[in-house]
Amino acid sequence: MIKTEKLTKSFQGAEVLKGINLQVDAGEIIVLLGPSGSGKSTLLRCLNGLETLSGGSIEMNGVRLDTQMKPRERNQNVRTIRRHSGMVFQQFNLYPHKTALGNVIESLLVVKKLPRSEAVAIGKKMLERVGLEGKLDAYPSRLSGGQQQRVAIARALAMEPDVLLFDEPTSALDPELVGEVLDVMQQLAREGMTMLVVTHEMAFARHVANRVVFMDDGQIVEEAAPEVFFDHPATERARRFLNKLG
Ligand code: ATP
Ligand code: MG
Repeated sequence: MIKTEKLTKSFQGAEVLKGINLQVDAGEIIVLLGPSGSGKSTLLRCLNGLETLSGGSIEMNGVRLDTQMKPRERNQNVRTIRRHSGMVFQQFNLYPHKTALGNVIESLLVVKKLPRSEAVAIGKKMLERVGLEGKLDAYPSRLSGGQQQRVAIARALAMEPDVLLFDEPTSALDPELVGEVLDVMQQLAREGMTMLVVTHEMAFARHVANRVVFMDDGQIVEEAAPEVFFDHPATERARRFLNKLG
C-alpha cells in the first residue's frame, strides 16, 4: 500500500528525515510516535505530496514519487496520490463559510466533478458515518471541536481514500471531546481502513494500532506491536520517550 525507501527531506540544508524505510500494508493501523521535532508531521506531509522529497522514494498503491522523475510526471503522480489519500489535521481546516455538508462535498464537486445531487448523496452518507446526520446544514462556528473534526474526517472519507493520514487529530480538542473522534477512528479501523496516525493518545495506540513506529531525530528507531513497544521497548531512546509520558 505504502512503501518508502531511503526517504530524506531537508529544509535549508538541515536534514529532518534521514532515510525513512517504511512499509504499510492494506488494512494496517500504524501509530507514529516520537518526540517533538522528530519528523512525524514532515513524514506524513511527504506521503501526501504536501512536501517534495529531497531523496529516496515513495510508492503508494503502485504510484511512485522520487527525485529523479521529470516534473511533469511527478506532478501527475502527486495529484494521483493526493486523490487516493486523505489527510486530517490538528486544526480542522474547514471552510468557515460552508456548511458541514458543503465542506464534505466541495472536493467531490471541484476535484471529482460529480453532479451536485450525487455529491450530496455521498456527503450525507459520510456525515452519517461519523454520527453527524443531524448537522448537515450547520456552519463550523456552530459545531463543537469534536464535531468539526468529524466533519473533516467525513470530508476525507468522501474521496474514498485508500489510506487516511492523521496528524494529531485530537490535540486541539477539549479533553471531553477527544473520545468521540477516537471512536470514529476506531470504527474506521474496524472497517478495514488503512491508517497512519500521529497521536499522543497512548490508549488508542495500545488498543487500536497493529504496529507502533517510533521516530527520533528524523529516523525510525523502533517498530513493534504496541504491547511489545509499550511494555518492552528495545532502545534507550524509546524508554526515555515513554518515561517522559509518565
Ligand atoms: P511535533 O511533535 O512537535 O509536531 P514533529 O515530529 O511533527 O513534531 P516536524 O514538524 O516534522 O516534527 O518537524 C521536524 C523538523 O523539521 C523540526 O526540526 C522542524 O523545525 C523542521 N521543519 C518542519 N517544517 C519545516 C519547514 N517548513 N521549514 C523549515 N523547517 C521545518
Ligand atoms: Mg507534528
